[in-house]
Amino acid sequence: MRTVTFVELALVGVRGATPVRRGMGAGPSADGHLVVDGLNAALPTNPDSPYELRDGRVLAGETDLGLSATPVRRPRFYDLSTVDGVSYEKIARLHGADVLATTVVQTCVRYAEDQRCRFCTIEESLRSRATVAAKTPAQLAEVAEAAVRLDGVRQMVMTTGTTTGPDRGARNLVRCVQAVLEAVPGLAIQVQIEPPADLSVLTELRAAGAVSIGIHVESLDDEVRRKWMPGKGAVPMSEYEAAWDEAVRLFGRNRVSTYLLVGLGEDPDELIAGAARLIDRGVYPFVVPFRAMPGTLAVRDGARPPDAALVTYVTERVATLLQEADMRGADQEAGCAACGGCSALRMAGA
Ligand code: SF4
Repeated sequence: MRTVTFVELALVGVRGATPVRRGMGAGPSADGHLVVDGLNAALPTNPDSPYELRDGRVLAGETDLGLSATPVRRPRFYDLSTVDGVSYEKIARLHGADVLATTVVQTCVRYAEDQRCRFCTIEESLRSRATVAAKTPAQLAEVAEAAVRLDGVRQMVMTTGTTTGPDRGARNLVRCVQAVLEAVPGLAIQVQIEPPADLSVLTELRAAGAVSIGIHVESLDDEVRRKWMPGKGAVPMSEYEAAWDEAVRLFGRNRVSTYLLVGLGEDPDELIAGAARLIDRGVYPFVVPFRAMPGTLAVRDGARPPDAALVTYVTERVATLLQEADMRGADQEAGCAACGGCSALRMAGA
């Protein structure tokens, strides 16, 4: 029941103040950050939602839905600036209660309109000046140190827009991980990349000290991939499989994850079967409902979020498969599966 309710909130959104928000950026959602029943939750804020945040609860009218909900407070590190005058908030953001997230390169080689992922707004947040185009390792180290010291951040997620080189942006992440760990030894860091043409960079990322890695395919259905991700969808599945396998060898089983978006038009049972195959190879399928984010091509073209029943069906079955394989998101220490805020999998026990 908690899963059903959470999925409904994730699709419809909630009414109420959420001081920590993400408006645009890489990835699948625009949201406010809360702690719901003790778990990180990234939920769309929607003034027309029937679901209201009030007195630490979620209400539909006067009916209590049985979930506690505490908006994440604005972190203190947002009020600081680097020595060169850049607001920390433009360098990294708080996600959930304890995750520091950054997009180290805010541009993507695939951002031409006929190439970009239709759910992504990575360069819109740059245009809106919410962030800066490239974060230096030194800036990231400075912000991470402050976020850990002032706001209790316990893990960090570093993603990147795709660059033109054969490493697709991964080598820059190596330098960023090294710099952050010099400033904050022991901080759990997840890196997120496209499959690099040269897999040796995965060894470098592990050696730099990243504890987990996301290599996000978003869909296992080639037709869906071509339609929703014309640029990235041209990367053959075999490259993803090779990168996942090498990453599992280096980082370990259940330290590698991939997003699977629900609601792009794929067959739900094929999605679940694909998730089972990922679990077999040691990769955590982070199942997330598609939500049309303002500024995306998807919104311009009138895309609608999926039915709550479909998302619940897929989420509950994938959660069961993960439980049977003894793979829990929290065990990844850092990253989206460890945070869980964008998915209902944690609510469903995975
Ligand atoms: S799941 Fe990932 S993108 Fe979503 S709030 Fe958590 S860290 Fe951020």
